[in-house]
Amino acid sequence: MKLTSFLVLCFLFLSIGSNAQNTYLHCGKVIDTKNGKLLKEKTIVVSGNKITDLKDGYLQPSNTDDQIIDLKDKTVLPGLMDFHVHMESETNPNAYLQEFTLNDADVAFTSQEIALKTLMAGFTTVRDLGGSGVNIALRNAINQGKVYGPRVFTAGKSLATTGGHADPTNGYRKDLQGDPGPKEGVVNGVDEAKKAVRQRYKNGADLIKITATGGVLSVAKNGQNPQFTLEEIKAICETAADYDFHVAAHAHGDEGMQRAIKGGVKTIEHGTLMSDETMELMKEHDVYLVPTITAGKSVSEKAKIDGYYPDVIVPKALNIGPKIQNTFGRAYKKGVPIAFGTDAGVFIHGDNAKEFGYMVEAGMPAMEAIQSATITNAKIVKKENELGQIAPGFLADIIAVEQNPIDNIKTLENVVFVMKDGKIYKQ
Ligand SMILES: [Zn+2]
Repeated sequence: MKLTSFLVLCFLFLSIGSNAQNTYLHCGKVIDTKNGKLLKEKTIVVSGNKITDLKDGYLQPSNTDDQIIDLKDKTVLPGLMDFHVHMESETNPNAYLQEFTLNDADVAFTSQEIALKTLMAGFTTVRDLGGSGVNIALRNAINQGKVYGPRVFTAGKSLATTGGHADPTNGYRKDLQGDPGPKEGVVNGVDEAKKAVRQRYKNGADLIKITATGGVLSVAKNGQNPQFTLEEIKAICETAADYDFHVAAHAHGDEGMQRAIKGGVKTIEHGTLMSDETMELMKEHDVYLVPTITAGKSVSEKAKIDGYYPDVIVPKALNIGPKIQNTFGRAYKKGVPIAFGTDAGVFIHGDNAKEFGYMVEAGMPAMEAIQSATITNAKIVKKENELGQIAPGFLADIIAVEQNPIDNIKTLENVVFVMKDGKIYKQ
């Protein structure tokens, strides 16, 4: 990590030092995410933080201050977007103890390292679906250029009901539990639900995350029971709309998923035990499934290591984890809209691109998997005219890989060039 940071600094100084007017990227292959096509021998012209042109052949700049980047033997595509990450933390056997030992400042330093790792893996935009609130400060620091990381849309702290998946005091000793409320992200009833959304707005969140059912990694028995009433979810979604927030719902069990969809959420995270009926409901309401297959596989592996998770979590991880890929395959074949998200943090950050291989393995063509991580995710945050495509007028978020990912999807696990907002971070 230290070496990477050093290299990043070098490249930033190089690009700042050269004072280039425009950057000409000579690209052997370019993925046209809008039309699902592979283009050959193109020049992308970048000026400031935007793509200004995409031309046939390898154009030579007329201005001597302009720089050329040679990517003639690479495949170039828009920066990837992972719409389910947790940048405040990363899986480790001490994670449950660390809730009592780490201060926000410790979390902040960790999240800075995670942000850099994520960017270097080619993910130039993420949705952070829940942390303590440090994720809001992280977004601000990245936007101010103080920290290198992806563009972040953050939920701040997730919303749960008492004892629910994102109740921050689950499993604590009684005298430490207290009675967390809307401010801490725990709501019971319609009024508290509304208040919690408004509190997220006040805190500076970009969207709302709810935990519509039990979950695997919370210290609680049930990983799939519904945990909000339909009325509570409706109140959250309607209030969220007042602030132009969309709502993401964590859900493993079918009943909780149905309530979330009917209540007005935009994305269902995981979707593990989704019935055929619920898949039809997803299509009807234009709700996206964010699969997180990588997390499912990772938790079921880690659960086999003695002592890695508290005892109450192990059976949930072994039961729910391995089912996610199969559900994704069924949902894809039924025509459920699919958005790309991995739940990085539940597994090691930087491995986000493994998800592509799992999606292809489950039956999704490589081009569609790439589209889910670009144009589809851009649409969810209403940035479809700025993000997810290599086209004039779009933000210059551009990455490159050694091989053509349509032939070998795993090449996305080894990103060799990263530009975000017109700045080169990896070359
Ligand atoms: Zn998650």
